[in-house]
Amino acid sequence: MSDAIGIYQFVPPYVEQVVLSHYEKQSSGTLQAVQGSIHSSRSYVLLQKTSIEFALKVRYEKYTSFSANIIHAGPPSIPPSSSLGAVGGASSPNQASSSVSTSPKEVWDGSLKRLVLSSSVTSLKTTDTAALSCYKNLGEVDEFYRRVFQKPPVDTRTKLMKAFVHDPNAFNNAYWMPSTESIYYGEVDPNLFKPLVGNLDICVHEYGHAVTHYTSNLQYQDQSGALNESISDVFAIIAKQDFLKQKADDANTNWLVGEVVVGGGALRSMSNPGSAYKNHPIMGSDPQPAHMNDYVKMATDNGGVHYNSGIPNRAFYLAAKNIGGSSTGAGQIWFNTLIASKKTDDFSDFANRSISIAQSLRGDNISNIVAKAWTDVGVDLRKPATPSQQAPDPSNHIFSFPCCCGCLTLGAILAIIMAPTK
Ligand SMILES: [Zn+2]
Repeated sequence: MSDAIGIYQFVPPYVEQVVLSHYEKQSSGTLQAVQGSIHSSRSYVLLQKTSIEFALKVRYEKYTSFSANIIHAGPPSIPPSSSLGAVGGASSPNQASSSVSTSPKEVWDGSLKRLVLSSSVTSLKTTDTAALSCYKNLGEVDEFYRRVFQKPPVDTRTKLMKAFVHDPNAFNNAYWMPSTESIYYGEVDPNLFKPLVGNLDICVHEYGHAVTHYTSNLQYQDQSGALNESISDVFAIIAKQDFLKQKADDANTNWLVGEVVVGGGALRSMSNPGSAYKNHPIMGSDPQPAHMNDYVKMATDNGGVHYNSGIPNRAFYLAAKNIGGSSTGAGQIWFNTLIASKKTDDFSDFANRSISIAQSLRGDNISNIVAKAWTDVGVDLRKPATPSQQAPDPSNHIFSFPCCCGCLTLGAILAIIMAPTK
């Protein structure tokens, strides 16, 4: 009799045979990899919708005669045997890796409804530049979140980073959909944008919505929704500066999100919200406010989430710049604040929480810098923060979140067709 001490999951949703592998602790104390297969379509459906723990249960019920005491249902802490096959993430589609420190990845053609690249199926080949750049960006995003925030950009149970390119429902848009836990890229009007799928800022931004969803789950409406949007921009700018090896307090540091996709401008300016694009032939001029004096109350865009995010965006810029060095320093304060936030938090709640987190992480000087950043954009700090968010319950949050369509470009497009109701 042996105890299972870990599982390595291989559950691609496009094949009928599911292979589950786990490790067993032998009486000698060594670990031995064991594989089992489930062929039935019923099991396949179950496996798609359930957790690793349940997958293990199915496996034991159907294919083993011994009972197992599962003491660890995550990936094993030792490198898995290469005999387990292609599991885990890969740095490129044709370079399968057995590392447990990356997320498995899939890129689907949303128009053809066909899987085109996968870290698990290395035989897949494509010449589609959208799929190839999407896959590459998934790898970069995975590495960024894990290295900088010690967190995968996807739920720790589902693990899969799944993206759709050429999606017919995402024209001129990109968004992360909570209900399917996937990112979608549409085609673009070439007069409006360069292809969104090739831009790392956008991929980091969209997976920022995933990180928010799996942590505080900030409600995508009004100020909590603007914070949700802002945090995705914050992660995007940190990733860009990290990639470019720029410091937040250098004069030439890039504070533009998505400048590659908007000719002659950007989608957002973190340092000067409202200046990302001007007199664009289609979009007009950037409508984002940079101060609470210009906060807009809107009946559209979920209460102006893509507009008012300019205010916390500038607060982050001021904090990061005045703290100095890499923006990952301020980013860690924002990340910890996000984890501690409640889903209905407004700007004042988030600001006060970030100040106290800065104090505990970095002391009085940094805390004062963060406080000044918020007051400089007009956020009222007199309102005390509500108690911190409880840790999310992992048993029920995975499929229960309503679609919020956290898109990067929607705000820009809405700027054309809708006016603030203020
Ligand atoms: Zn967004």
